[in-house]
Amino acid sequence: MSGINRRRFVKNIALATPLLLAPELFTSCNKLKVPKGSFSGKVIVIGAGTAGMVAAKLLTERNVDVLVLEAASVHGGRVLPLNDFASFPVELGAEEVHGHRTRWYQIVKDSNADFINEPGENYYFLDSKVQLEKDIKNDAEVSKAFEMVDAMDTYSGGEITAEQYSINNGITARVKFIDNAQVGGEFGTSMERLSFSGIKTSNDLWSAGNSNYMIKNKSLLSVLDNYCSNMLSKIIYDTQVVNIDSSQTKIILTDQNGAVYEADKVIITVPLTVLQQNIIAFTPALPATKISAINGIGMGAGMKIILKFDSAFWQNDLGSLFSDGVVPEYWPTALKKSSSDYLLTAFVMGSFAEYLSGQGSNAITLCLAQLDAAYAGAATAHFTDSHIIDWSTQPFIGGAYSFPTQTSNQPRKDLAASENDKLYFAGEATNTEGSFATVHGAVDSAFSVVEEILN
Ligand SMILES: Cc1cc2nc3c(=O)[nH]c(=O)nc-3n(C[C@H](O)[C@H](O)[C@H](O)COP(=O)(O)OP(=O)(O)OC[C@H]3O[C@@H](n4cnc5c(N)ncnc54)[C@H](O)[C@@H]3O)c2cc1C
Repeated sequence: MSGINRRRFVKNIALATPLLLAPELFTSCNKLKVPKGSFSGKVIVIGAGTAGMVAAKLLTERNVDVLVLEAASVHGGRVLPLNDFASFPVELGAEEVHGHRTRWYQIVKDSNADFINEPGENYYFLDSKVQLEKDIKNDAEVSKAFEMVDAMDTYSGGEITAEQYSINNGITARVKFIDNAQVGGEFGTSMERLSFSGIKTSNDLWSAGNSNYMIKNKSLLSVLDNYCSNMLSKIIYDTQVVNIDSSQTKIILTDQNGAVYEADKVIITVPLTVLQQNIIAFTPALPATKISAINGIGMGAGMKIILKFDSAFWQNDLGSLFSDGVVPEYWPTALKKSSSDYLLTAFVMGSFAEYLSGQGSNAITLCLAQLDAAYAGAATAHFTDSHIIDWSTQPFIGGAYSFPTQTSNQPRKDLAASENDKLYFAGEATNTEGSFATVHGAVDSAFSVVEEILN
């Protein structure tokens, strides 16, 4: 649920490796050491999402003159809480902390957050019944669908899309929704756009650990704000960089109003979609390797639809509901966070999100109809309110998160490479260690780029 989950893998591994139940054994405080070195010039960071905030925080700690230009009127980017919808902040973007062997896990832990281990059981609306995973897993077609989820870690063939893999392996239309959610959705897209061999490449690189956590008592943004408190005053909001001229000694940045900023080094942390859409003009033009890297990684539509009800009509232990239809996966947003809020999150990626995005407010009716089918009309009967976040139309973001469209990890390496000791690239899509599409991947990319600048 919500981003890369590896839930089925977790279950298998946890049985074999009991030490995973004691995550603190694997964390290291040294991870958060600020990179050594110095830089006496001026650095401008473009974008105040996770990567931009962390980069500016680290540079500030090393007394570097740093400024952050943020296009939106808020910071956080794809870490975005919805504050007045429930008795707790509803996360519209990142929600889970993936793994425990990461700097981000350490930052969250240091903030005294209460962790919730990923709760709940998987249920499937199959053959007109909502059924527990354990009750359907021996069904021959279902077990094939689950084998595909497991094959994300074991696949050894050539370049292939997830869709092609599902066809080759005889996944039937009856159970395909399972893989639409647990393969396509998990990687922020739909199966026809996703490289199955690329998933395997990234899973091999993944070192964060296989547990997922949520935070009970605070928003992810408040954790980021706390960790990055020394740089918040350095953000200039409503400043969309549209031009970067690095042809002279000083780098000249121009914003949407024609205002000009001067720097010796620039860290670009904008989402991949912003680079793909050529929203920023570069002088000199970016080299062909960089352009091919930008276009060699996927990023597209993604939505969360938060549905509010006056009571819970779903199972008490529901972790996720997987279902054929407009939304492949729903989960109870408030589970273990609040007992007085009855919310379901619809998680929709890729072509599913494009379809729902085109539906406007009718998307809610479609979600309710899908849930009504599973829960005998209870969804419409108990519905009170909703909130839609459509990341593809979210200003200055333009998509959910990056995903592999090919086996090779080279595009991410080329995207992460700096240009002439002047332009540096950070952000989730630049993560070369299999942790793209995550907050911890964005944090790590900031550490890498700051280390490069300070050295
Ligand atoms: C629906 C959804 C669910 C997710 N779930 C999880 C999860 O459970 N766990 C997890 O770890 N991750 C999850 N993620 C991914 C995670 O949110 C991202 O990987 C991470 O937040 C990206 O951080 P970033 O700094 O790379 O980019 P961003 O947060 O996108 O920051 C980029 C910033 O650049 C700004 N910007 C853009 N253009 C310009 C410009 N021209 N000039 C100036 N500023 C500009 C933007 O406004 C933005 O603030 C999820 C994402 C989504 C969308």
